[in-house]
Amino acid sequence: AKDHQSGVALATGGPDDDSGRQRLTTLEELRAGLDRGELTLHYQPQMLIAEGVVAGVEALVRWNHPSRGLVYPDGFLPLAEHAGLMGRLTTQVLEMALAQCRAWNDDGLALTVAVNLSASNLQDCDLPGYVADALLRHGVPAHSLHLEVTEEILIRDAARTTEILAELRRMGIRLAVDDYGTGYSSLAYLQALPVDDLKLDRAFVTHCDTDPRSAAIVKSTVELAHNLGMRMIAEGVESEAGLDRLRQWDCDLAQGYHVSRPQAPQQLTTWLRQQASD
Ligand code: C2E
Ligand code: CA
Ligand code: CA
Ligand code: CA
Repeated sequence: AKDHQSGVALATGGPDDDSGRQRLTTLEELRAGLDRGELTLHYQPQMLIAEGVVAGVEALVRWNHPSRGLVYPDGFLPLAEHAGLMGRLTTQVLEMALAQCRAWNDDGLALTVAVNLSASNLQDCDLPGYVADALLRHGVPAHSLHLEVTEEILIRDAARTTEILAELRRMGIRLAVDDYGTGYSSLAYLQALPVDDLKLDRAFVTHCDTDPRSAAIVKSTVELAHNLGMRMIAEGVESEAGLDRLRQWDCDLAQGYHVSRPQAPQQLTTWLRQQASD
């Protein structure tokens, strides 16, 4: 079962006036939500498979809506992107993620934190400078920050995207290709772009223990990643059997409900301490 609840509806058809009003209202709510700091982050562990140790977490944004409750990303990210709010949203996410990373590190929990970037973030030439400043302000070393970018974004505007990513990477930040295998898959960007990790989409991972075609794709992608000097991260790991296969195939990291669902920071801190003492 998906841990999603339906979020804010985007205007999709219906009588013209109503859909227009709906979008406007929702956009106002989202702006207000950003102003009031209603965004919050849940964190999902990323486990080093060979060691069985949690090396880091991925930050996943939620909107703590005053009346609708917790709204999941697919309920507001498309609107944020459409309305040109992704710059502000990403800034807030990065600030929260770096503050939390620092708090965990001060607490003796050495974790990397992965943050998702959107298409418009990679059109913004100020991004690397902002990230450098944020790392300094929070006292987080660059190697503790990972940034995830979908392959669709990587293909979109190769020149500017490459420049921004190269700058982030020169700072020592690790870059991952997210949802690998689902975009307009192209090997050209793997040849050209500086990335560190391949994050294979869960569509290929979740049933890799029972579906031979998924298994073939996972095995081949681990080899591809390793031959390119990259690490392979499997997302959507939902079973022990799947995790066993990934271990056999030499996959580096696992993320998914079988390891842990995304959790609020306090909850996750408790969970991490339990793991460490087991
Ligand atoms: P994603 O980056 O591919 O993140 C993984 C999504 O899969 C998360 O959904 C997570 O809760 C879900 N998931 C994790 N493990 C499993 C599993 O074992 N099985 C299944 N079926 N699902 C699993 P979530 O949190 O709803 O996020 C959805 C998408 O929203 C993310 O996909 C990402 O593309 C985007 N997103 C989330 N937070 C941010 C953010 O701060 N900035 C940007 N730009 N995008 C974000
Ligand atoms: Ca991601
Ligand atoms: Ca993903
Ligand atoms: Ca995804």
